[in-house]
Amino acid sequence: MDIDNLTIESASKGLKNKDFSAVELTEAYVKNIEEKNKDINAYLEVFDDALDIACQSDKRIQSGESGKLLGVPISIKDNILIDGHISSAGSRILESHRATYDATVVSKLKERGVVFLGRTNMDEFAMGSSTENSAYGVTLNPHDKERVSGGSSGGSSASVSMNGALASLGSDTGGSIRQPASFCGVVGLKPTYGAVSRSGLIALGSSLDQIGPITKTVKDAEILFEAIKGNDKKDSTTLENYSSKSGGKVVGVPRNILSDGVDKDVLEHFDKTLESLKKFGYEIRDIELPYKPDTALAVYYIIMPAEASTNLARFDGIRYGKKVEGGSLFEDYAKSRETGFGEETKRRIVLGTYVLSAGYYDAYYGKATSLRHSITKDLKGIFESGIDLIATPTTPSPSFKIGEKSDPISMYLEDIFTVSANLTGMPAISIPNGEVDRDGKSLPVGFQMISPHMHEKSLFDTGKDIEASI
Ligand code: GLN
Repeated sequence: MDIDNLTIESASKGLKNKDFSAVELTEAYVKNIEEKNKDINAYLEVFDDALDIACQSDKRIQSGESGKLLGVPISIKDNILIDGHISSAGSRILESHRATYDATVVSKLKERGVVFLGRTNMDEFAMGSSTENSAYGVTLNPHDKERVSGGSSGGSSASVSMNGALASLGSDTGGSIRQPASFCGVVGLKPTYGAVSRSGLIALGSSLDQIGPITKTVKDAEILFEAIKGNDKKDSTTLENYSSKSGGKVVGVPRNILSDGVDKDVLEHFDKTLESLKKFGYEIRDIELPYKPDTALAVYYIIMPAEASTNLARFDGIRYGKKVEGGSLFEDYAKSRETGFGEETKRRIVLGTYVLSAGYYDAYYGKATSLRHSITKDLKGIFESGIDLIATPTTPSPSFKIGEKSDPISMYLEDIFTVSANLTGMPAISIPNGEVDRDGKSLPVGFQMISPHMHEKSLFDTGKDIEASI
């Protein structure tokens, strides 16, 4: 079995035709993880029940059951709960936190016979773009071990890229599925807000977070998305009438925002992909975004920390997580949080608490919220004017070196093209569109498309055309 070239699609055919069993498939992945993970650090833990679950899936296959995900081994980001397993969100404060229930996405995949191989590394509480904020060490990029895998779903993306899983689930609040997917040369989808249940996802920014697939192909992303989507009583923000829509072939390119700060090679690949789309009958139209992307970034970096500071209040050493005794209740809280949280998490809690504080609420949170509405109106307006998809590079440059971005602002700029989809709730996908040469290594780059709400089908259709053209 050649796991380097397997996809969900081909593996499920192989399982159905009895070319190999789910146990054999799982064993092959576990072996590869054992070899590669020592260097890459994509996995924080390989689950010891993976083979038992593969065995159960084999029994289901033997009894005649079939399904695209039956017996398929995948990895899962460390902030998505699996009953009985540790889920630490990349943080010390949750290092021994064991989930007591399954996230809705997990129970949906368990029903379909997915084998969970293990949990993957991430920036602490999904705050970051490089996994350097993980309490458990950085995840190296399988394409160049001096570089980052991206983040916050860096472990998930690297696990797929190093053939340590057929696919993975990540979470995306401002780009955390798409950016690492682009750095690792895999596909990443941030679904429409409300398409996928967030029940059992350790929250960062609840109005922005979505769980989504990280895969080797667009078809695989579609298979996983179809399996995890849907209304859920446990998440009141899930949509009641979600139905995936396809769209037309007019691609809008906000040329005015691509002139500044985007790597020359990234831009070259971007233009090449646009040219090849023309051969598939697409019309490429220049558009102007009515807002500056740095406005979207500023809005995101007010709303996200505001929500994070609220969500993270529960990690106080009493209700959840590691407790450090301080002698009084207040000191218990203070010491637990001081030792349990990393630097970036603390920065965002302070920032979020500040923008929500009585004297500053209107100036920051209130203003950011109203700008968020106008950005949403602006993007809707573009789609209503005959544009079906908005395309940009996923990130301004390919993967950077470990330690290279030492100040928070340069790290936040990684999200310049991705945050708009989260602020507006629209779906977006990153598709590998070639590799650029850096220090003798080939580094993948990604092509991002945003579509109107619920138009995932449109992203998949065009994504498959891009794959076919490369
Ligand atoms: N890089 C962004 C941040 O640090 C995105 C994080 C995410 O999507 N979880 O907030």
